[in-house]
Amino acid sequence: MVLDDLGSSLRGTMDKLRGKSRLSKEDVQEIVREIQRSLLQADVEVALVMELSENIKERALEEEPPGGTTARDHILKIVYEEMVEIVGESTEIPLEPQTIMLAGLQGSGKTTTAAKMAWWFSKKGLRPAVIQTDTFRPGAYDQAKQMCERAEVDFYGDPDGGDPVQIAREGMEATEDADVHIVDTAGRHALEADLIDEIEEIEAEVNPDLNLLVLDAAIGQGAKEQAREFDSSIGIGGVVITKLDGTAKGGGALTAVNETDSSIAFLGTGETVQDIERFEPNGFISRLLG
Ligand code: GDP
Repeated sequence: MVLDDLGSSLRGTMDKLRGKSRLSKEDVQEIVREIQRSLLQADVEVALVMELSENIKERALEEEPPGGTTARDHILKIVYEEMVEIVGESTEIPLEPQTIMLAGLQGSGKTTTAAKMAWWFSKKGLRPAVIQTDTFRPGAYDQAKQMCERAEVDFYGDPDGGDPVQIAREGMEATEDADVHIVDTAGRHALEADLIDEIEEIEAEVNPDLNLLVLDAAIGQGAKEQAREFDSSIGIGGVVITKLDGTAKGGGALTAVNETDSSIAFLGTGETVQDIERFEPNGFISRLLG
């Protein structure tokens, strides 16, 4: 059964429905209230929470549970289906040669994610390379190089900094034996014009098949503006949510998914190269509702 792993308070409410074959309006209202509380606490945008609540309410009251289905299973299924509508399925990542560029603000976890994704592709039997074009953040080069060594994947960067666009060009040439190129870019503390100009130039140079927006799970509503800016400049095809090993549940990233009309590709769950998971709606939804 989907969503078996619900948070305790919602599970308690659901369990009260055991043995019932029909849901009353009060039952539905109580469940929807619990869901709203969990989602708002998880940083999901109010408008999304309201849209979801309305859809669940309407379906739960109007749809007849199919024969043999209990009221509890019926509403669980509706909640799951409506949550998947909002959360989306995982971004498609074909296991084939490609170039992926990472975008996001400084500290979001781009460099870490680049090395993790390279590790992930290498475990799938491909030959990835990380190209580090972040010449803005001190230490970005060393950090990327070390992580790539640990992941045992190809790496290109310039320890002396220099022009990010030139590094991108040289990096693509230097790693031409690799089949998956992962291009890390510089972030800034905020969305500044030079950040957007730079990433557009790198994008024109490496011509990525996919641009991923990397967001810290604690992002909250700040996700909206970032998503809009990056999407209108380079086009965002998917989102990576990092630091899900912390207490934040990553609901703010759904705003970015919604804003960019994209989906979630990967989750970051720690600081080492192995701490990466492909996004999978069921676990994420249970966590949001938990
Ligand atoms: P960048 O500026 O976007 O390249 O961000 P970094 O990759 O340097 O990450 C910023 C900080 O977050 C570093 O201290 C990372 O170790 C940490 N970090 C990145 N991803 C994760 C994660 O999934 N979990 C945890 N706990 N820390 C992470």
